[in-house]
Amino acid sequence: MNYQQVINKVYQSVLQSNRLGEAADYIPELAQVDADQMGVYLHHNDHSSAYAGAWDQQFSIQSVVKVLTLTLAYKKMGSEIWHRVGVEPSGTPFNSLGHLEHEQGVPRNPFSNAGALVVCDVLMDLFEDPRAAMLQMIRESTGNPAIDVNKSIADSEKSEGYRNVALANLIKSLGNIKHDVNELLDLYFDCCSISLNCKDLALLFSFLANQGTCVQSGKALLTPSQSKRINAVMLTCGFYDEAGEFAYKIGLPGKSGVSGAIVAVMPNVFSLAIWSPGLNIKGNSQRGIEFLEGFTNETGQSIF
Ligand code: GLU
Repeated sequence: MNYQQVINKVYQSVLQSNRLGEAADYIPELAQVDADQMGVYLHHNDHSSAYAGAWDQQFSIQSVVKVLTLTLAYKKMGSEIWHRVGVEPSGTPFNSLGHLEHEQGVPRNPFSNAGALVVCDVLMDLFEDPRAAMLQMIRESTGNPAIDVNKSIADSEKSEGYRNVALANLIKSLGNIKHDVNELLDLYFDCCSISLNCKDLALLFSFLANQGTCVQSGKALLTPSQSKRINAVMLTCGFYDEAGEFAYKIGLPGKSGVSGAIVAVMPNVFSLAIWSPGLNIKGNSQRGIEFLEGFTNETGQSIF
């Protein structure tokens, strides 16, 4: 399979279709990003790669980080984590407060904002410095020691993060958050504001394409069984209210974020990162989804 040829072809056709979407505007710093950018990077488990466009342009990881916070907590805590957060699709928006009151503050899944806040609370129990533990895992897995939190994005999120503040307080009142809410929110916003590029993101997610072991560093982040389970949660909950449509059209586990980042993995074969800031109506990168649809159609690569 010549992945570079396929990426070149699909990249051009997505550019020509000229459907851009709109950059997220509820975080002021994200609203300033030029939506007309796109980068792609595929990292194969045999260490080869293929890429196109602005693959080396930095963006904030946003909700894609929720897979990594979960990974860190799951590795250290094992399946006990599932007493604090579930694995069911919520059928509600990513920042919804809806189910929490009726479900004793246990979020439906770790990829909603509510779920990610609870996972960050768990990390505060498990690590003396959870921020440093996150950055260490990310730097080791990518081989890029320069990856860091973008403080102006984190501050921007804090300035307007009313729903996240409400979620953290509601869950705390229901007993599923133990730590100080302000410290917890700082950790959550910092994690969402970690900046990297498509190459970093593809390398970072190679462990989910490789039975839990990072292809770049050779380090086991999860057991094969845990890796399978995270892929299952990505497939069912990784794309906001578009997870069903994503599975139907593309058929790969993955995760998206409001910065326009998407990462998808083909287990045992590759990890693939796409970034284009214009979002569709469901909050997923317009061009990212279009690219992945074209790519999986051309290559026939899907888990189904
Ligand atoms: N930091 C964003 C928020 O909490 C993440 C949202 C996302 O990417 O889904 O609103």
